[in-house]
Amino acid sequence: MDDIEPPEFNVFVEWLYTQKLPADGKSWNTIANQSKSDLLGMLRLKLYVLADRLIVPSLHRLLNRAIVNVSRIYYVSPPPYENIIYAFQHLPPSDSILDYFIDIFYMGWDSDIHDRSGEDNFSDLPQDFLLRLLTKMGKERKRSKYRQQSLYKLDVCSYHAHASDEERASCPNKAYDAEGKMWMKRESEKEDAA
Ligand SMILES: [Zn+2]
Repeated sequence: MDDIEPPEFNVFVEWLYTQKLPADGKSWNTIANQSKSDLLGMLRLKLYVLADRLIVPSLHRLLNRAIVNVSRIYYVSPPPYENIIYAFQHLPPSDSILDYFIDIFYMGWDSDIHDRSGEDNFSDLPQDFLLRLLTKMGKERKRSKYRQQSLYKLDVCSYHAHASDEERASCPNKAYDAEGKMWMKRESEKEDAA
C-alpha cells in the first residue's frame, strides 16, 4: 500500500500502541504531525479508509464514532466536496459513512455553503453520490406531509423564452398567482425579474 500518506499513518501507529484515538483536534494534529486543523475531517476519513483496508474492526468502529459526531445537536455541517469524493472513491458502496454523508448533505447543504466552498471539486462529485442523493431527495419528499411542489407557483412565462418585453406582456399563458407561495422561475431570468 504505497498510497498511505504519513499523517494518518502517524495516528495509526499511535493507535497501535494506545488503542485510543487522539482526545481532541489539537492532539490529532500533533500526533499526525500536520498543522492545518481544517483538514481534521479528511484526516479522520483517511484513517477510517485505512482501517477498512487493513480490516481493523476496533479502529474502524472508533473512527466511525469520531466521524458521525452526535455532539453537535443543532447543526451538522455537510462534508466538503473533497471529502465526499475521497469517501466514495475509497469505501465500499455499503459503508454507513457514505449514507451519513448523503444524509447530512441533503439536510444542510445550500447555495450559501456552495458559494463559500467555491467551485473546487464540485464538478468531480461522483455520479454514485449524486444519484443516491437524488434518490434520497425523492424519498424525503414523498415522506413529507406536503409535497414540495405545493410551496411554489410556477412562472411559466419565464420558460417561454419571449423575444421581447412586449411579447411577454401579451402572453396568454400567465402563471396563476397564489397567495403565500414562492415563485419558481427560470434561473437566468431572476436577475431582471426585480
Ligand atoms: Zn409567456
